[in-house]
Amino acid sequence: MTTFKDIGLSDHLLAHLDTIGYQNPTDIQRLIIPSVLMGKDVLGCAQTGTGKTASFVLPLLDILANGNSKARMPRALILEPTRELAQQVSEAIAKYGKAHNITHTTLIGGELMGPQIKALEKDVDIVVATPGRLLDLFQKGKLLMSQMNLFVIDEADRMMDMGFIPDIEEIVQKLPFSRQTLFFSATMPKEIKGIAGKFLSNPKEVTVKPQETTSTTIEEFLVKATALKKRAVLRHILETEKERDVTIIFSNRKKDVDTLVSSLRRHKMDARAIHGDLSQDQREQSLKDVREGRVKILVASDVAARGIDIPEITHVINFDVPMNAEEYVHRIGRTGRAGRTGKTFMLCAPSEDKFLQGVQKFVKKEIPVIQLEGLDLNKSTERKADKKPRPERRNAEKEVVAESEIYKNEMNKKPVLGFGDHLPAFMNRG
Ligand code: AMP
Repeated sequence: MTTFKDIGLSDHLLAHLDTIGYQNPTDIQRLIIPSVLMGKDVLGCAQTGTGKTASFVLPLLDILANGNSKARMPRALILEPTRELAQQVSEAIAKYGKAHNITHTTLIGGELMGPQIKALEKDVDIVVATPGRLLDLFQKGKLLMSQMNLFVIDEADRMMDMGFIPDIEEIVQKLPFSRQTLFFSATMPKEIKGIAGKFLSNPKEVTVKPQETTSTTIEEFLVKATALKKRAVLRHILETEKERDVTIIFSNRKKDVDTLVSSLRRHKMDARAIHGDLSQDQREQSLKDVREGRVKILVASDVAARGIDIPEITHVINFDVPMNAEEYVHRIGRTGRAGRTGKTFMLCAPSEDKFLQGVQKFVKKEIPVIQLEGLDLNKSTERKADKKPRPERRNAEKEVVAESEIYKNEMNKKPVLGFGDHLPAFMNRG
């Protein structure tokens, strides 16, 4: 078994990892860290949940420990596709970097520029940024990129989905030519390989099998339910699942996230929402409430929840079948992290069968259908909680019906999405 000592990290860092409780490197860390420490470029095909963040943050800390940054001239840049991921990586730097005197800052959209500009005026070593805000600050002359000799592109496939590649190309032109580049992507379609080829020089290539497909720690189930009954099914799962800690519920549409949160709250189940139409403050507050244990249910849209690492997530519920098959793997990967066990349920209405086929083709297996014990779908549990049908509720029901119509229409128009097919870039720009 390879140890952290074998892969060349400093004694300083080794002692710190011991206090954090990491005993051995994960596969990606074992395979990548020695190359990064030797100054090589890296092309890593790995998803979150594999220990990928530490695989680039740990060696970066050791490399940056030799030297200092000057004001507005950071020495390392980590690009993330979403604000949440940028913050998560910053938190990881704070956690792993406790033993080093390395400074970092997060430059993301949706937040005031003033404090970010102020932070850059101090000597910042590492910048973690979303592409849009980084370019805005550069164009305002608030930072120079000429000393950024270490460059990490994380979640490149997601960057592509979100239309960030032109921004990244612009950023790369401003970085030193002789930099070291670490390029990570959860999937490696041809387009991504092509982009990687432009940014990397003779990289060490590493593929770590996606944890989700190899993991036996996640139990997956399928529940057949009409669109109108899905909420009753959802509540039944939440009420009856024993050993449930944090649950994340995914919905395909941002609007439905809010509707679901209100519906759950009406049934005395506190929940928080996270989706792209919420302000950055609201999104952060939702995550904070869940991370700090005040609330156990998070209802999310795909983009906002992408890559989120909350170790306490024991359950993932797909309220809808994702239209993009690949998204299923990302969603269920929010649980069963770092070897823990997890359970997932996907609610599938008859109108979603085509998407289900796409998902099953992608994961190369049939997800077992489960009959939920003690659930009487003929009994209107909705009505029980809301004695009088409120106009709000009636509208919500109409919406569910309308959505299934949308599905039908979409299915008639579109082929089932599969590997490498992507939804339009409807997400927030960083
Ligand atoms: P990531 O893939 O970076 O999102 O990491 C997934 C989870 O694994 C995070 O909660 C990390 O704290 C945890 N982790 C990363 N490396 C190790 C390790 N070597 N040993 C134990 N846990 C780890």
